[in-house]
Amino acid sequence: MLLTAEHLLNYQRCQRRAFLDQRGDLAFRSPPSDFLRKLLEDSALHRREKLSDLTWQSPVYAKGDWQAGAAATQALMGQGVERIFQGVLIVPPEEPEDMALAGIVDLLEKRPGRSDFGDWVYVPIEVKLGKRPKLEYQIVAAFYTQLLAGFQGAWPEEAWLVLREAGLYEVDLWQRVPQMQTVLAGLQETLRASEVPEVFISRSRCSLCHWYGHCYEVAHETNHLSLLPGVTPTRYAALQELGLTSVESLATATPKSLEGIPGFGEMNAHRLIRQARATVLGQAIPYQTITPAQVPTAPVELYFDIEAEPDLELAFLHGVLVVNRVTGEETFYPLLAEQPDQEAIIWQQFLDLVHRYPQSPIFHFCAYEVQTAHRLGQRYGTPPPVIEALVARFVDLHDLVTNSVTLPVESYALKLIARWLGFRWRDQGVDGAQAIIWYNRWRETGDHTYLDAIVRYNEDDCRATYVVKDWLVRECLNQTECQEASG
Ligand code: SF4
Repeated sequence: MLLTAEHLLNYQRCQRRAFLDQRGDLAFRSPPSDFLRKLLEDSALHRREKLSDLTWQSPVYAKGDWQAGAAATQALMGQGVERIFQGVLIVPPEEPEDMALAGIVDLLEKRPGRSDFGDWVYVPIEVKLGKRPKLEYQIVAAFYTQLLAGFQGAWPEEAWLVLREAGLYEVDLWQRVPQMQTVLAGLQETLRASEVPEVFISRSRCSLCHWYGHCYEVAHETNHLSLLPGVTPTRYAALQELGLTSVESLATATPKSLEGIPGFGEMNAHRLIRQARATVLGQAIPYQTITPAQVPTAPVELYFDIEAEPDLELAFLHGVLVVNRVTGEETFYPLLAEQPDQEAIIWQQFLDLVHRYPQSPIFHFCAYEVQTAHRLGQRYGTPPPVIEALVARFVDLHDLVTNSVTLPVESYALKLIARWLGFRWRDQGVDGAQAIIWYNRWRETGDHTYLDAIVRYNEDDCRATYVVKDWLVRECLNQTECQEASG
């Protein structure tokens, strides 16, 4: 068994993941999602591109045979080649109960110095798709210096990251090596433990993890506090110290009892307890009145949702559902750029469409639509007064919901709110990331079914937004108490 740089990286994100990756039952692991596959492909492509101006050699060995990879790398280092692409490093453990340490470095570059191989040493260079030199990357780079110290008999004095936008970044090894050794010791201790670390669902961290399905099930079965919006790992630790270990106990707590939590504040204390109560009751709890001016009802209303490909900085679909409350007609307009160079055309189509209904409010969910309207207006020379008049018609329902009602949901995303209200998407398990994958597949293959699936998904998002708006008006407008949702 090897303890690899990947384990160290994952341990910094989640201790449980490091444990499960080494000792978990593989039957509970999910295959990588399309989105994760795309990320890995993008990362590999980015690495190749960044290193394309350099010449290098790489060790030749049977895939997965780490020992053979290390032997081939050692041979290249012994020959003193200038650069080694994806060299394999393995060093035996210091303590017999520990595992051997190993890693595959993006690039090893030769420098003058003194090592077991001769008058040279190798330094590690890691290529990252990220824009910033995240601490977790720096810790991994420092880990490679420790591996190199064992592998070549000399500590490298440099380690570098190559970042997407910032370019070359030198890791401060005086600072990072001791930190890395602390992290490594923690990882070794976690892997020696008999118990798997406690689950903690954090959507940003867990959504790309192959243990998510399994961990979510565990969290759901135990009604884990991490499923409550607003419970961060830091707050969770503080709540545990206060003996508030379940949603039920939190629901009966007083805001004053949470005042000891650092940086928490009175407002957050009220909000979190209200969230626990809504969850226990399975019922919405209003706390701020919504007025008709905030959530207007008009003869014709527009529901708007954008699909975008961030890597191309492209808004490729403006979906608009036009709801005529007088006639009962509902018409969906998918304004789609089949190719990226059609973005200007669909932007103009969107402006023409919304100008046909100059008095209609435009409902959307989250700030992205407003930001994109500003960006597209600038990009395509739309006069600022036109953009200002357009944006003045926008109504952000996410903002309204989160500032007026507490719902028994695990997150205030459109999917979860609309689902709680009983709305169902026609296709299960689709999200914005999947729409991006489908758009890229359409461009690669020309298969129109990908575009059809995106349009269907986008229309459902617009219809879900419509359901949320109607519920807000029906149940919460000028009401002192929201009713339990039928869904
Ligand atoms: S799903 Fe989340 S809690 Fe579970 S192992 Fe992955 S990152 Fe950790």
